[in-house]
Amino acid sequence: MPYEVRGVVATKKGAPVTIETIHVPDPGPGEAVVTIQACGVCHTDLHYREGGINDDFPFLLGHEAAGVVEAVGEGVTSLTPGDFVVLNWRAVCGECRSCQKGKPQYCFSTFNATQKMTLSDGTELSPALGIGAFVEKTLVHAGQCTKVDSSARPAAVGLLGCGVMAGLGAAMWTGEVEIGDSVAVFGCGGVGCAAVAGAKLAGASTIIAVDLDDRKLELAKEFGATHTVNASNEDPVVAIQGFTNGNGADVCIEAVGNPKVFEQAFYARDLAGTVVQVGVPTPEMKIELPFIELFGRGGRIKPSWYGDCLPSRDFPMLVDLYLQGRLDLDRFVTETIDLSEVEDAFHRMERGEVLRSVVVL
Ligand SMILES: [Zn+2]
Ligand SMILES: [Zn+2]
Repeated sequence: MPYEVRGVVATKKGAPVTIETIHVPDPGPGEAVVTIQACGVCHTDLHYREGGINDDFPFLLGHEAAGVVEAVGEGVTSLTPGDFVVLNWRAVCGECRSCQKGKPQYCFSTFNATQKMTLSDGTELSPALGIGAFVEKTLVHAGQCTKVDSSARPAAVGLLGCGVMAGLGAAMWTGEVEIGDSVAVFGCGGVGCAAVAGAKLAGASTIIAVDLDDRKLELAKEFGATHTVNASNEDPVVAIQGFTNGNGADVCIEAVGNPKVFEQAFYARDLAGTVVQVGVPTPEMKIELPFIELFGRGGRIKPSWYGDCLPSRDFPMLVDLYLQGRLDLDRFVTETIDLSEVEDAFHRMERGEVLRSVVVL
């Protein structure tokens, strides 16, 4: 029996989102229907609404979610109705050239559901990041469901589905932060604070948070920042050198997506250090650097998509760390809201008032 449920839809560029009736088909081969319990509000949802991703309106928004498997389609053996899962947008194919090379975390051909969810008039919806989870039930590929410990709080662990994982992984996987490293994180929103938390988990001994907003710097301290720099008052490069014996940080993580901030991260890095780019730039942005500086400083510049995570490996492990009290995912949940409050949550996010608003169903 197909499902008729309520969901948050962006119908056209820049227009406020609306609640619509969504038609969710029964799961086909390889698919699953998931009853959503919680879904975080991410900048990417707002980018979709603003037409910044593509023009495939209408979008079913939401993609940082946890829920319970309602039904599975033919051939699905990895899931059973009743399983508690965090949704992911990296359902690895196992067959592309990256998977074949043993690097599924970069899979170039990830799976999404084949069937479409629709509005009641039959208009096909484009689900955000192939998920679409500001909705009572959603249709995904079974590989997009990662089973985790069911005693975890959905509003907290659902955030692993996107932004928090991106930040944790930017430090742990892309940046390969090691015990005793110095790390600087530029931008202390949800992703940046998660990068601070990831650096702490990985054993960094110096964690420098950089932002323009003192409130965000205070939050970064709660996640483990040992030093803070307000870049509106002082040069972050000089400040970071000052906290690292004049050398610069071993790993600098850019979590803003701004060429000027990238440049600061580049110069605030120690020789042979690593710059991780996890902030998402816009298409017109350009970076310009003296070529000799790029060569002469050595080290690495590494973009980080989704924290280079492998959901099947990382989500259960991170949920266990959360349940052990070693990773404070609850602290990312600034507020819980209803489906009808997503538009307001976008505005609070734009004003920098929240780390995460989380829709709870
Ligand atoms: Zn693949
Ligand atoms: Zn996201």
